Amino acid sequence: MFRHLYLVAENFVNKKRGNFLKLMNLKTELLCKGVKTEDSIEKGRKAGAGPAGGRFMILPNNSVVNVPLWPHFVKNSDIILRKLGSSWSLYKDGDKITDIELIDSPRFYSRKTSSGHPMYKIALLHGKDCLATTVLQKCVYWSTGQSCKFCGIENSLKDGSTVPRKNPKDLVEVTGAAVEEGVCRHITLTTGTPGTPDRGAKILAETARELKENYDVPIHVQLEPPSVGYLELLADVGVDTVGIHIENFDRVVLEKVCPGKAKVSFDEYLNSWKKAVELFGESQVSTYIIAGLGEDDVSILQGVETVTRLGVVPFLVPFRPILGTEFESLNPPSAERMINLYLKVAEILSEYNLDPSRNLAGCVRCGACSSILEAFRYRG
Ligand code: SF4
Repeated sequence: MFRHLYLVAENFVNKKRGNFLKLMNLKTELLCKGVKTEDSIEKGRKAGAGPAGGRFMILPNNSVVNVPLWPHFVKNSDIILRKLGSSWSLYKDGDKITDIELIDSPRFYSRKTSSGHPMYKIALLHGKDCLATTVLQKCVYWSTGQSCKFCGIENSLKDGSTVPRKNPKDLVEVTGAAVEEGVCRHITLTTGTPGTPDRGAKILAETARELKENYDVPIHVQLEPPSVGYLELLADVGVDTVGIHIENFDRVVLEKVCPGKAKVSFDEYLNSWKKAVELFGESQVSTYIIAGLGEDDVSILQGVETVTRLGVVPFLVPFRPILGTEFESLNPPSAERMINLYLKVAEILSEYNLDPSRNLAGCVRCGACSSILEAFRYRG
């Protein structure tokens, strides 16, 4: 009797794990290959900070994915997005893989702030419920010729799709509109690096303070390694989670791809990550790791182990070329490589008992640009 129950339970767990593995594989393929579409479809923003050039889709199990639709490599994808009636589905080799939900632009995009800015120029919906904005759309490295070669942060200023500095009052209004519409459950505030010692902490803190005074919504901020005092300032104003992004653990690659950022030493990252975990807690600090910039898997996995041991979530994403950047014609890494990496990252997270799904706000909670949440669920 007990053995029978045990076998039933074991089958159930194996089936569930198998589903998460399939989901992780599909999501990773979508991130690395994108999809071709035969139907006319709004393809999402072309530039800006973070992986642009795509639309958000909801896969089975409520998994959200930021799928490339614009970039050149999409034409080689073997996954096709088709519409039948009002439903969207993904196909491969003529067979349907799954139905998906395409996330539409929220209604607040058609509204204006009281200062006259269209709200979509102030903040955008990322994933299904993350309101995201680049508080300062300029970066000191662009003026010194040392910008990251994959980054399009100032390109969206040239095409007029955003404003250089988001006024906290405007952002409060946009947040109000997004909350009212039910599409803002957490907020991501990122920034280009200003040429000041706070590395953007002051404007992020000022914005977060204003938002927290008006709304009880968890806030994530992203910046280069801040000193202890600035991390404390961010904690004091109520910021919930922090992203301190190394981008790549291979210092030779980093110097080539991010000549400005590479001037910040690895020790500064280590000190900032440690202090941030003390202030914000395990799983509430993260770092973006971009695979496909010329590094090898060993450097990624060693780096992942280093940060995971500290309690920092390694937010591993495949490189995605953005139109108008120096790397616009490069390809993302293969889906096979990324799947293999995600499985190993999940093992490391499991070994150190670091659960990314406990993260309260921002990229890790949104999860649309990485398969680490799905890989972790598969690993169990
Ligand atoms: S993971 Fe981060 S960058 Fe990607 S869509 Fe979500 S909030 Fe935006």
